[in-house]
Amino acid sequence: MQSEIDPWSGNQNIETDKLFSEFGIERFDDVIDQVKEPAYFFRRKIVVGHRDYKNITDAMAEKKPFNVMTGFMPSGHPHLGHLMVMKEVVWHIKQGGTGYISIADREAHAVRGISWDKCREFGKEYLNCLYALGFEGNTYYQSRNNKLKDLAFECATKINFSDLSAIYGFSQDTALAHAMSVATQVADILYPQTDAGPAPTIVPVGIDQDPHIRLTRDVAYKLRMFLVEEREGYISVRSKNAPSKAMDDVESAFSGCRRYEGHIDIKGASAEEVEAKVREIEIKNGGFGFIAPSSTYHTFLQGLQGGKMSSSIPDSLFRFDEPEKSVKKKVMASLTGGRMTLEEQKKLGGEPEKCSVYLLNLFHMSEKDDEVKEMYRACKAGELMCGTCKKETFERVKEFLSDFNEKMDETEHLIGE
Ligand code: SF4
Repeated sequence: MQSEIDPWSGNQNIETDKLFSEFGIERFDDVIDQVKEPAYFFRRKIVVGHRDYKNITDAMAEKKPFNVMTGFMPSGHPHLGHLMVMKEVVWHIKQGGTGYISIADREAHAVRGISWDKCREFGKEYLNCLYALGFEGNTYYQSRNNKLKDLAFECATKINFSDLSAIYGFSQDTALAHAMSVATQVADILYPQTDAGPAPTIVPVGIDQDPHIRLTRDVAYKLRMFLVEEREGYISVRSKNAPSKAMDDVESAFSGCRRYEGHIDIKGASAEEVEAKVREIEIKNGGFGFIAPSSTYHTFLQGLQGGKMSSSIPDSLFRFDEPEKSVKKKVMASLTGGRMTLEEQKKLGGEPEKCSVYLLNLFHMSEKDDEVKEMYRACKAGELMCGTCKKETFERVKEFLSDFNEKMDETEHLIGE
């Protein structure tokens, strides 16, 4: 049985095959060989899918600029459920990426009715966690970034209400501010490319966020002036909505090209060279030259009590500043994959793939693969009992929280205003 030899096979609590076949998400397995030293969340199949991650592996290998960006909605305190995205962002920064974090206060205010003061307070907590994990880079609050707000307006010219109702279930009663916050989130993802020029941008998200990524990639495409394609032995630059001055610039950039109504055919340059040049020309003519953002998709850590991990179910998770006693109670009361009796457990072994304690270790509490593999093996073999396992896990949680809080104290001064 595969699950006996593959301790990473049990965390996929979603129908990944459907996502790959129906939505065109690609399997992360197909690109992992191109990552020089894959992080544990890649090795353990927590990250299962991607779009255009090859753009990122190429940039990492060739030491070319790339961005990593994500946003956090400051509608409450950061907790265990936010940790995976934070780690993915920090890992990409360590591989050479430029980091961008949006505190999505417009979204928190529009969708959850959180006051601006509270948004600021929660936002600082998210930033503190990120800095404690080693984040370096650019951070902003949506409401205070005028360049982002201008970009959001531009993005909104390419989003209509049928997109919003199909993707987010908008109805006639949905507040207009909610629609504006969607345009702002699209702008968040494209913002790094307006800050430092077009570059691949990786957005690590949970698998449920793919519709938003698709919308953003669609907007990025619609905002391009040109389409570059290979056609009949030529590299053809087609105008999507380019002003004639921009077409003139393309014509003068490539000697010997041939201009027709709406397109220019070029010989003697590769598609990549032409793409790079026309992006420059777009920007010179008031466009953006966006590269469609790349994404990775991770699975979700289930709640400690099983089911969904959510801040509306306090027992499903712990906060980073939660008292030790409360954290201990939650870990010790976690749903396990243990059998009804000790005898059965010894005879049949446990079911780690269903166990919140095992998954907590797999996702966060042990970065040593051998330790997690041994837990899996001993559980399946009926050698490890749930009581002992929970106690050991709580010790790891305690150590993690103590280190993390210490680092948060040390990095608090980096938050600023
Ligand atoms: Fe989960 Fe550990 Fe019990 Fe196995 S022994 S079911 S991993 S708590």
